[in-house]
Amino acid sequence: MARATRSNDWGFPRWRSYGGERGAAKVRLCDRHGCDRPGDCPAPKSPNSPERWWFCAEHAGEYNRGWDYFAGLSAEEAAAREKGEASGAAGYARAGHYHWGGEGDGTRSRDELRALSALELEVDATFEDAKAAWRRLAKANHPDVRPGDAEAAERFRRVQAAWDVLRQAEERRAA
Ligand SMILES: [Zn+2]
Repeated sequence: MARATRSNDWGFPRWRSYGGERGAAKVRLCDRHGCDRPGDCPAPKSPNSPERWWFCAEHAGEYNRGWDYFAGLSAEEAAAREKGEASGAAGYARAGHYHWGGEGDGTRSRDELRALSALELEVDATFEDAKAAWRRLAKANHPDVRPGDAEAAERFRRVQAAWDVLRQAEERRAA
């Protein structure tokens, strides 16, 4: 029986017999390159994808911190998802038990908090703060200002998506 060597480790998903020569149980390993711990924490590959990475606890945390929630998402998609999330959250708000893991003051949905983060704002930023940040970032990354800059174009799109989420949430509250 062949020993597990580095040459067996390439590819995806990464599987290796756990416990070396005894090789009784196959354990899925963390998808983070070079990590040999069992990967038992699922993480979505992109916001609307059912596909998952599997990480160890440490790398799941790292991935979640680095994960750009608005990457690859159009403004319409972001707004549609926010709408769905907000309608689901409305029941909690009425019940007075409305918290997203202790962040914010409990009046903002998780997507709004992510949108604030995309606009480089703190969770207690006001709507006016958000508007100012959106204008500043959209201007700085606008395709007319940064022609041919793909990264700026992506930042511009993300900023627009984040702003759309916040604007629609504000309109819903005012209604
Ligand atoms: Zn890991």
